[in-house]
Amino acid sequence: MALRIGLTGGIGSGKTTVSDRFASLGVEVIDADVIAHEVTRSGEPVVEQIAAVFGDEVLDAGGALDRAALRRLVFADPGKRRRLEAMLHPVIRERMEERARKARAPYCILSIPLLVESRNAARVDRVLVVDAPDAMRRRWIKARSALSDEEIDGIMQAQATRDERLEAADDVIVNDGSIEELHARVDALHRRYLAIAESNTAAER
Ligand code: ADP
Repeated sequence: MALRIGLTGGIGSGKTTVSDRFASLGVEVIDADVIAHEVTRSGEPVVEQIAAVFGDEVLDAGGALDRAALRRLVFADPGKRRRLEAMLHPVIRERMEERARKARAPYCILSIPLLVESRNAARVDRVLVVDAPDAMRRRWIKARSALSDEEIDGIMQAQATRDERLEAADDVIVNDGSIEELHARVDALHRRYLAIAESNTAAER
């Protein structure tokens, strides 16, 4: 079975850049955000369940979940949010699990933004945290989006703290230099993961 690496990090830390680099090295990346979109398409069973609870106004014209409408609906209502998550999260988890089971060895990446916040989001063998200084994250986020400082603060405060992430990490990629340096760090970890996967396989034989 493929070794499973859970990739996580705060908003703007460089997760996507890191997972794209792993993908370009031929590693299978299973992305929780992509899966979350897949399971909310029209015709998916959980979409019907969610519409049955929250009403048809959470569907868009094509019958898929209207994620923005849902976000507004649960935004200020923790009870509704929990109900929604209780329906959605197991489906996302199961779909990721299925992909990971099918993944070609030696290892795969499960990219899960909120892995530290919800440790049961997926079964992983190791946790890889992308860690970037707050000032850099803020600069990068602003360069790619129209978020204000206050909005960025709000998102950062709702996420795990740096210490909580580092506490959960088996491996850390520090993203505090150029993209080229970041790529080189990913490449080094890739060699390490191949070696770990290889020694696990040898032990299983
Ligand atoms: P995340 O997925 O964690 O939100 P991204 O990988 O999307 O983070 O990175 C956020 C933004 O910052 C992207 O536009 C990315 O190109 C940029 N970025 C990430 N790391 C660096 C870096 N070391 N130098 C310059 N820009 C970076």
